[in-house]
Amino acid sequence: MYKTLKVAILVIILIIALVACKGWQKPVESENFLMGTIISQRVYGKNAQKAIDAVNRRILELEELMTVNRSAGDASKINEMSGKSLVPIDQSTLQVLKKAVYFSRLTGGAFDVTVGKIVQLWGISTDNPNVPDKQEILDSLKLVNYEDIIIDEYSCSAGLRYENQSIDLGGIAKGYAGDEAIRLYKEYGITSAYINLGGNVVVLGKKPDGSPWRIGIQNPRSSNGKYIGIVEVADKTVVTSGDYERFFEKDGVRYHHIIDPKTGYPSNSDLISSTIIADVSVDADALSTSTFIMGLEKSIDFVENLEGVEGIFITKDKKVYATSGLRDSFRFSDESGEFEYVEKR
Ligand code: ADP
Ligand code: MG
Repeated sequence: MYKTLKVAILVIILIIALVACKGWQKPVESENFLMGTIISQRVYGKNAQKAIDAVNRRILELEELMTVNRSAGDASKINEMSGKSLVPIDQSTLQVLKKAVYFSRLTGGAFDVTVGKIVQLWGISTDNPNVPDKQEILDSLKLVNYEDIIIDEYSCSAGLRYENQSIDLGGIAKGYAGDEAIRLYKEYGITSAYINLGGNVVVLGKKPDGSPWRIGIQNPRSSNGKYIGIVEVADKTVVTSGDYERFFEKDGVRYHHIIDPKTGYPSNSDLISSTIIADVSVDADALSTSTFIMGLEKSIDFVENLEGVEGIFITKDKKVYATSGLRDSFRFSDESGEFEYVEKR
């Protein structure tokens, strides 16, 4: 009798130790500056460090291919040869371009990576941002048209139909990088990981204790990273586009980095922040940028009709809206008291 009790206690202690060990696993954390932003990773499991290193290497590779600041990269080569010829590109750039064109069509041109010339004119992400001349904007607008992106899958090459046209993959490349990170984590046998690429969050599985990841939705008017709410997710991506990420102010006007391809000016919809929750980060990246431009009314209906995609939208008059699929996973909690959650429309 005594012996049985002893064995039972031992077994219980062992079980508790095992559960605790799994639940309180320490993650390996990493912070790195890549793709023009801070990339943070929190990865659990035996190969965590190796996986993190592989992800950092991969993101560097993708940055070199897709940023217009690297002259040897695919994006720069495509721009340089615009109107002249197709250029051979990496398979990953091809995938990103295909997605870009797909989402341009789906969003009626709100998403359009051929805004490259306009992005350059404004220089919002540079040290010398400025309000361009109206005529310059109108001239550059003529060069914006996603239908002029030519993709030849057979030869893995791409180009732009007319001279001086220019692509900028800043609105989609980080999303692709996030998907690549998850692919690599899995390759290294990781089952629980979190990566944040400057506002693009992607999570693999749940936290090791079995609870969902809790992702804060930033208060777009707080300078110290306060949240307006939390969304609980597993195996998902949470991507936000906002007018607060990169901008400059002149004569009291805020000029931000998301360009309305119809006007050539920073988009002026009723939104100041647009968050997309989805399974694939490259999709969420394209969709957060485009819904931000499309505005609340259009975006809510649009996202409600997309399978497996949800959204959280914040308007200029500080109202917060969430699509119906987030009823159980989004919790509004605004410390500032300035925002209002509009539950049912
Ligand atoms: P962030 O880079 O801050 O996460 P986004 O994903 O919304 O934000 O991307 C904004 C970037 O996308 C801009 O800096 C620019 O490079 C590019 N861009 C701007 N307007 C558009 C647009 N209408 N369609 C596609 N890309 C855009
Ligand atoms: Mg984007």
